[in-house]
Amino acid sequence: MTAAASPALASPAAIEDAAELVRKAKRAVVLTGAGISTPSGIPDFRSEGTGLWSHDEPLEVASLTTFRIDPERFFAWFRPLAGQIFYARPNAAHTALAQLEQAGYIQTMITQNIDTLHQKAGSTCVVETHGTLRTLTCTSCYRTFEAEAFLKSFIDHGVLPFCLQCNGVLKPDVILFGEQLPHADWIRAQRAARQCDLMLVAGSSLEVLPVAGLPMQALDRGAHLIVVNNTPTYVNVRADVVILEDVASVLPEIAKRVLHG
Ligand SMILES: [Zn+2]
Repeated sequence: MTAAASPALASPAAIEDAAELVRKAKRAVVLTGAGISTPSGIPDFRSEGTGLWSHDEPLEVASLTTFRIDPERFFAWFRPLAGQIFYARPNAAHTALAQLEQAGYIQTMITQNIDTLHQKAGSTCVVETHGTLRTLTCTSCYRTFEAEAFLKSFIDHGVLPFCLQCNGVLKPDVILFGEQLPHADWIRAQRAARQCDLMLVAGSSLEVLPVAGLPMQALDRGAHLIVVNNTPTYVNVRADVVILEDVASVLPEIAKRVLHG
């Protein structure tokens, strides 16, 4: 058991403790947040202090209400973020988790991120609780389209996405403020949290509900908990291992220990 908030947390012993829990787990679940994508250059648009907050007010502009009333305003705000996401590459943390999944150590990846970097790194069992930028849905006829071609025109040339069938505005399948989580994904996430015997929280400060409550669901059913995040979270006091460092340096170390001893 490793204590919280000590400089010794990133010690080789903490890495080994985490690796041991991953090795022993039968149903390991990983929960990731914005912190795993910031090393790939994607800002956390829900956090204060990022450029996006200072330029505009995401709570208002990244809301379903704004999208419905004034989609052009939403898209103007979204364009730089969409560009950063579209051209981002997975980092060492995404790769480490994909390697662990491919080796059979991770059963489910739950993410709050919409950037698809887990999939780009090779993860397949990804539950996207805040939606995804992989697809767009027509706000008139509800037809869904692969996002890539639309996004490229939008990011590179400012062409707004319209439905090829009915010319309605296409909305990225990401969860805006004021919108419910995608039901099926949320059910899957909760089931995975309740059935796991290990949860690894990576790059999330666990501040956005309801996803932030998933570690409690796992803990209440006896699961072990590892937290790798460079700021403290509310569940650190109940975690078996806490590593207060950047995920891109820590997760590859844990994966190396698990996979190669
Ligand atoms: Zn349509």
